[in-house]
This record gives sequence, structure tokens and C-alpha cells, in this order.
Amino acid sequence: MQQYLRLKEKHPEEILFFRLGDFYEMFYDDAIKASPILEVVLTQRQSVPMCGIPYHAAATYVAKILKAGLSVAIAEQMEDPKKTKGMVKREVVRVITPGTLVESELLPARANNFLVAIEALASGKAGLGRWALAAADISTGQQWLGEEEKDVQWNALRAQLAALNPSEILLVGDTVKVMGDVFGKLSNVRLEPLPPQASNPRDHVVKAIQQFLKRHHTHLEKSLGAPEPLPTTAAGTLFLSEAAIRHLELVEPLDPLDPGPTLLSLLDRTPTPMGGRLMRWWLLHPSTEKQVIAERHEQVEGFLQHPDLRETLRQLLKQVSDIERISIRAQANLVSPRELGALRHSLSELPKIKTLLKSLTERTLIESYAGFDLGSPGALMQALNTQLALELPAKLDEGGVISDGISQELDELRALRRGGKQWIAELEAKERERTGIGSLKVGYNDVFGYYLEVSKSNLSKVPPEWIRKQTLANGERYITPDLKEQEEKLLNAEERILELEKKLFGDLVHEVAAFGPTLADIAGAVARVDVLASLAEAAAQYHWVRPAIEDSIELSIKQGRHPVVEKQLGRGRFIPNDMALGEGTQILIITGPNMAGKSTYLRQAALIVIMAQMGSFVPAESAVIGWVDKIFTRIGATDRLSKGESTFMVEMREVASLLVNSTPRSLLILDEVGRGTSTYDGISIAWAVVEHLTKMPMGPRTLFATHYFELTQLTDRLFGVANAHATAKEWPGPDGQRHVVFLYQIRPGPADRSYGLHVAEMAGVPEACVKRAREILGQLESGNHKLNAVSPSKEKGTGQLDLFGEHPVVEELRRLDVDGLTPIEALNKLAEMKEKLS
Ligand code: ATP
Repeated sequence: MQQYLRLKEKHPEEILFFRLGDFYEMFYDDAIKASPILEVVLTQRQSVPMCGIPYHAAATYVAKILKAGLSVAIAEQMEDPKKTKGMVKREVVRVITPGTLVESELLPARANNFLVAIEALASGKAGLGRWALAAADISTGQQWLGEEEKDVQWNALRAQLAALNPSEILLVGDTVKVMGDVFGKLSNVRLEPLPPQASNPRDHVVKAIQQFLKRHHTHLEKSLGAPEPLPTTAAGTLFLSEAAIRHLELVEPLDPLDPGPTLLSLLDRTPTPMGGRLMRWWLLHPSTEKQVIAERHEQVEGFLQHPDLRETLRQLLKQVSDIERISIRAQANLVSPRELGALRHSLSELPKIKTLLKSLTERTLIESYAGFDLGSPGALMQALNTQLALELPAKLDEGGVISDGISQELDELRALRRGGKQWIAELEAKERERTGIGSLKVGYNDVFGYYLEVSKSNLSKVPPEWIRKQTLANGERYITPDLKEQEEKLLNAEERILELEKKLFGDLVHEVAAFGPTLADIAGAVARVDVLASLAEAAAQYHWVRPAIEDSIELSIKQGRHPVVEKQLGRGRFIPNDMALGEGTQILIITGPNMAGKSTYLRQAALIVIMAQMGSFVPAESAVIGWVDKIFTRIGATDRLSKGESTFMVEMREVASLLVNSTPRSLLILDEVGRGTSTYDGISIAWAVVEHLTKMPMGPRTLFATHYFELTQLTDRLFGVANAHATAKEWPGPDGQRHVVFLYQIRPGPADRSYGLHVAEMAGVPEACVKRAREILGQLESGNHKLNAVSPSKEKGTGQLDLFGEHPVVEELRRLDVDGLTPIEALNKLAEMKEKLS
């Protein structure tokens, strides 16, 4: 307990897993805290609360602790108890937090797991500041670093975090104070404040990660590659706002309770985990560089043209395991024999993939396939092939990991073991004959070791020199000195074999670890090939075309489709639509009935741009895209209510951000801006937003869906604004009711009506209620803003409901001091009021 308490003192925050033989034990408060989380029994020994878990199942228990927002310190036995007199030494060898996981079974295979460090510096103005950010995925060895040197909106940082989706964030210096509210709203992320330091933030954040990893004993800080530049607009990446990532359902469905397909699920056909991770990364970080995009399109085209080759490639890639993470696990000395077996198998597939790519280069004349350096780590292959046994156990402890012929000592010990086993097997036959006990059996258990078992009926034949060890219901068990001698030899050999195998395996792991950088390069190349072939696969299946990327600010889409809605509806049932934004039309105002396809039309434009710029083909007949630098969206209500912001506040925050941050190259998707407040406020805001956007020179391309018909008048007043509407057809049915059919065609010009009541009816609003709404609508449309209250049961006479309040003239009249007016003043006042009324 003293040893335990000494270790615990150094790890007050973590749950300490204290290795005792085959168990990790927890004591005192740790045990009280952890037992309900782990669902294990809390016991007591000498009034010390304790609980434990079997060591070989630790991973699942670690996962539970992390999920509960705690972290784990692992204390191992540093000596072999059999060879140690007294107490074995124990040390904390690792501290596990969500951002320092390398356990494949605890990590999502197809997404990165980011540990992020941020240092934010306040500027004088609210909501603005400078920041530096480093993001490291310890499990893959990748690292990114970026900073904003001038004051920018915190929203840009939020967008970075939304795309990285970190599992742990280190907040350096005053970051919490400076921008606390941003982090307060992140869920499922472990936050750790670190003390402020001198010098510059860019160094801080990298150092913060290094130091954090060192403190957690992972030794993996050395495996992290040199940081690549964090993808930012300035560094050639299409910026996606946090709202865009969410509302366009790029990687996650909006409704977790009813998860539908996402753009990622549609695109991602990659067989390898590396490919899966890169696909996600490209999707969340599309490029703005024409050459980069063109090269990807070119390569996708090549795969598209050769379906047979693509299929062969796919089958080969299925054989490739997670080279990237296996390599890192080797560097952390946590790799299992089977993982090294998987690495061996994966590497053996590479030459075949290489040959395939070479033939693609020849057949398509696209040279860049040859540039995929799949490496040929010959020495590593050789080592794995010769040293690693063919059939591998899941755990090193099971033995049989190292091939014969690698170590003379191992071979000799194994021969000895074989001899011993054979001797025992032969003993059975020999003694059976000598004693005449036909049913004699040699057996083994952990308590007595090897024994001879004799059934009851044969007990009289047992020779006197046998020593009885155990009585069973229907027989007895015996040992002999010879048997014990052989047993001793055998067990000694077993033990020595295991020791030797562990050492040799350790050497091999060391050798693999030295190939870290090579394996990282190979993994990168495999991932890229995988993603490009996967994009071709999707393009072929869904009949997508290669878009043209230009420097203009055109956005012309012929017969575009929404890829996800189309998939859900089934082929041929989605109505394609054209779109043309650019020099002539900067803002398209889209009106039309509810449910007629406005939102779908808006989103499909954004999705097509994202797909095109990540390197994918697009769902259209043709598309010309003047590259977009940022996409902002303002779509529908969000679920931030639980985080203390009203729907309208969120809406206005997003509007503020897009007005401030968009450039002439940006694309704005505005779906019903202003509907979160009163009608007049809403129209005024929507109107002003459109005016504001047209004041910027040439920019940003904007799609604006609205139910405010007043906005359709803007085309008469502003250059660059055009109307479009979603069409519907209406006719009287046999029952005398009006029937509406949505055509999902977007046509030029404003819509004439909204069909809101029709949608209410479709949605199952009670008939009487819809009928009453129709009456009210009729009155309003006839210009009568004073409504008769005719709700029968609660009716209070024939009073009128005043929909829009009193006219100000009425109030003026009430306050008028008639006695103080001269007749001429009274006449003038009357004329003025009449003027006001009209
Ligand atoms: P609201 O004004 O009520 O928000 P909306 O006009 O934005 O409605 P959407 O949400 O875009 O309407 O579309 C409603 C449904 O119509 C979609 O879920 C989809 O099933 C179908 N739909 C939309 N566009 C098309 C299309 N082009 N072809 C076929 N079906 C479509």
C-alpha cells in the first residue's frame, strides 16, 4: 500500500490502474469512483475500498473511464515476480487520455483522433483575436500547425475545430479567459488548461503537445512528423463554416436519432482505414488550388475509364491493413504479433498495386500515377518474412511468434520441449502395458502438473511406487518421480522459450519502428490511391461528371442533382435543375411553396462545389465552377438551445459572420433568413442583408430562399439580383378540394403563392383548423387586417381581432387637445391625418 500511495501521489487526477499479477486493482477513492463506471464490484480489504479488472481486458475498461471524462494511469510490474525477492518494482508507464490513445480497438478506424493545442490572444474588440493551433494525431503520427497573425473572428477558429473534431484540447496561457464561451459549448471534448509562457504562440502550441505527451509517458512525441501547415484559406483550402459542416451534413447526419446518409457515406468506398481517413480530410478541407484539383480530377478520370483495373485494385487494397497505425503502435512498443503479421501481408500486396498503377499510367497516359511512391522496404519485408512465424497468436504470451531457424537457443529449447512432450506421451503407452491398466491416462492441470489417472475398477493394479495425489469420484490421480522430473524440464523449457520469444519479438518490433518514416510515406500513398479510386467508383455508380474549375466567378451547373437526396429517392426520381450565378447574377432569390425543393436546390449547389474542389466528380450534366474560397450557410434552426442561445440569436450570429467574413469568391447559402423573429423585423433584416451583399464589388455569390415575397421586388431596385421560383401545379380534385403537385423545377421569376396551408393539411393539421386558417387567409388577402373572431365555443360576442395593432393616427387623435386648436389649425391637422392614413 505504501508503494501504491507513492504512485498515487504523483497521479492525483487519474484513475490509477495498479498491476497485481493478472489484475489491475484500484483502491480508495479511485475504486469508489471507478467501480460504478466500470460496472465491477466494490469490495473492501482491511477497510480499504478496492475493485479490479483482468489485465488482458484492460482496453474496454480504459474506454469506459475515458468516456466518463476521466483519464487513466497504468502502473506496471517492472520486474518478474518469480525472480524477485520481496516486492516487485512498479511504475506508471503510461497515462491515457482521449487525445493520447493508440489502441486500435478504442479508436475510430476511419477518422483521425486529434489532440489540439490552442493559444488565443485577445484583441481590444469583442469576438476578435489572434490564435495559433497545433493538431496532432498520435495514433498516426501526423501533425498540423497554423496561426492567424492578425485579429480575426473566433468563428474561424470554431470552424477549424469543427473540421478537426478533436477529442482533447490543451488551452495554453490565457486562452480560456480570452475565449471561454467558445470552449464552454464544445461537448465530448476533454479540456486541459496549461500555464502561460513567454515567446510566441506558434512555438507554444507545438511545445504544449510535446510536453503533454512526455508527461503521459507515451514516448510518441518522437513519432510525430514535422508539422504540416494547417489548412486555411490563405494556405489553399476552401473554408467551410461550422454551420456549413453541420447543416450540409457532410460527415455527420443532423439528427443522430434518425441518421440518414451523409455526403461522406456516399463518397467513401475506400477499403483501407488510411483511405477512409484521407477521404474525410479531403471532404472537410477541399482545395482552392486549380492545379491540385485538376490533378485529382485527372487521376479519378483514369480510374473511371478502367473499371476492370479499378476492381482489381479494390481487391488488393482490401488486403492492406492500417499500416499507419500499426507502425505507430510498433514505435510505442504496443504492437501485437498479429498486427505485425498484418503488416507483413499488407507490404506483400504493394508490388502488385505498383504494377497495376504502372499499367494505368501506360493506358491512360496520366503520368502522375507513376509518382505514387509505394516504396519497397525490402529489408523490413525480409525481416518480417524470415523472423515472424506463419501462424500468429493474438497475444505474445501465447508463444509461437518467432520462426524456427532464427535463434539456435530457441530451436534447441523447442526440441527439448518436443522431446519432453513425446516422453510423456510415450509414458502413457508404456505404463499401460506394464501395469495392464487399459484405461490409464496422462493428464495435466495447473495445481498438480502432470499426473496419471486410474479409474476405480483398476485401482488394484496400481504399482506401489506411484504416489497418490488426488481422489476423484470415480478414480485416483498419481505422480511418479520420473514424471515430475520430465515435467520440470518441460516447464523450464516453456518458460525460457517464452522469455526468448519476447526478447526476439521486441528486437523485431524495434526494427519495424525504425521504418516509421518509410511506412508513413507508404501509408500516405496508399491512402491517396484508395481515395481517388473510391471517387471514381462513386462517379461511375451515380453517373457523375468531371467539373471544370476556373478563375472566373461563374457558377454554372447544368442539370444538377443533390447527391444524397437523389440516392434516397432512387435513380431517375430526382428532378435535375440548372443554376447560373456569376457576373450577371450575383444573388438569386428563390421563392415558392413549402416543400417544393428550395432547400434542396440551395444545398445541392454547395455540395457540388465542395465535391468538385475536393477532387470528386459531380452530380450534373456539366458544371463550370469559378473556384470558391469560403462557404457559409444560414440554414434552419439549430439545436444550440441546450447551450443557452436562442434560435434567433444563432441565426443572427451566423448572418453576422458571413457578412463580415465573405469575399467576392465566397458562396453563401441563405435559407429563410429572418424567419426566427416577427414578420416585419424578419423582412427588414432579410432585405438589408441582400442590399448589403450587393454593395460589395462583385461578390459573394448568394442563394437566398425565402417566403417573404416582398424580397422579390429587389430585382427592380438592385443590379445582380434575380428571382427564381420552385414550381407547383394546382387543380381542383373530384372532391372539390384543391390539389397541389410539386414539380421540383426551378424556373426564372418570382413565385405567385406559398401553399403553406396545403402543406399544413398534408402534415395532418386537423381539418377544422386548416379550414379556419383558409378563412383568415382569405380575409387578409382581401386587404382586411381586422379579423372577426368566430371560434364558436370561446366566442365573446362579435369583437374584432386586430392583427397588426392600431394605426398611429388613432393614438394621435386620442391625445389631441381640441380646445387648444384654432379652427384653421384643426383643419390642417385633419388634412395631415388623412394624408397619414392613405
Ligand atoms: P420549405 O420551404 O418547407 O423549407 P423547401 O421548398 O425548402 O421546403 P425541400 O426541403 O428542399 O423543400 O424539399 C422537400 C422534399 O422534396 C425533399 O425532402 C425531397 O424529398 C423532395 N425534393 C426536393 N427537391 C427535389 C427534386 N429536385 N426532385 C425530386 N424531389 C425533390
